[in-house]
Amino acid sequence: MGLSPEDTSKLAETAETFAFQTEVSRMLHLIINSVYKSKEVFLRELISNASDALDKLRFLSLTDHSALAGTSDLQINLRVDRDRRVLIISDTGIGMSRNELRDNLGTLAKSGTAEFLKALETDADKGLGQIGQFGVGFYSVFLVADHVRVTSRKTVDPEDGQQWVWESEGDGAFAIALDPRGSTLDRGTVIELHLKDEAEDFLNETMIEKLVHKHSQFVNFPIHLWSKRTE
Ligand code: ADP
Ligand code: MG
Repeated sequence: MGLSPEDTSKLAETAETFAFQTEVSRMLHLIINSVYKSKEVFLRELISNASDALDKLRFLSLTDHSALAGTSDLQINLRVDRDRRVLIISDTGIGMSRNELRDNLGTLAKSGTAEFLKALETDADKGLGQIGQFGVGFYSVFLVADHVRVTSRKTVDPEDGQQWVWESEGDGAFAIALDPRGSTLDRGTVIELHLKDEAEDFLNETMIEKLVHKHSQFVNFPIHLWSKRTE
């Protein structure tokens, strides 16, 4: 299991480990261990986050043109790597600093978490479909993935600008490390989902394309879909 074994070991050397905030941990347990009909919501949530990140960057660039340094392309890319069983969603949006990765994807308590847990108890599938409205949409990645890696680089933050990697299996803890590969991104975020066996459908491009049309047709940025196949 895992993403790419060759750099996971290097990551471990510099990684700092954090516990998920208690309620987030409870929610993840439910997301991972319950049976839901509509696991596809994760894609809409990731595209919505990518679109928000692009909006933030575009807004900044109105008053500070240097915000676009690195690349002026504002776009979302979806890619399937069948050999590694990984679905990859990337954006050239605002990105996250180390502390933002830590806070936004794990340690900061969100007021919507408790409400979302209640909604899940009342009607699991309906609640899940509304996850985005509770402000915890990112965590839906663990419906389909057993290992998630978020690589991010926020160039508009003068205190940071470096590229960080966040990794988790959703099991109570996550790790953050300075990316041993260096700053390979111009700017923005790459999310790699190592899919569970039962979520293999999401390696199918036609399926992904359909879901993009179904849930994300009004996104204001171009969404590119392509595939990488290795012989
Ligand atoms: P919400 O989008 O409602 O705030 P989420 O759980 O979907 O809740 O995301 C939590 C936070 O993580 C976002 O508010 C944002 O700050 C950060 N985030 C998630 N994905 C990205 C991304 N692709 N680029 C930048 N920030 C992101
Ligand atoms: Mg969101």
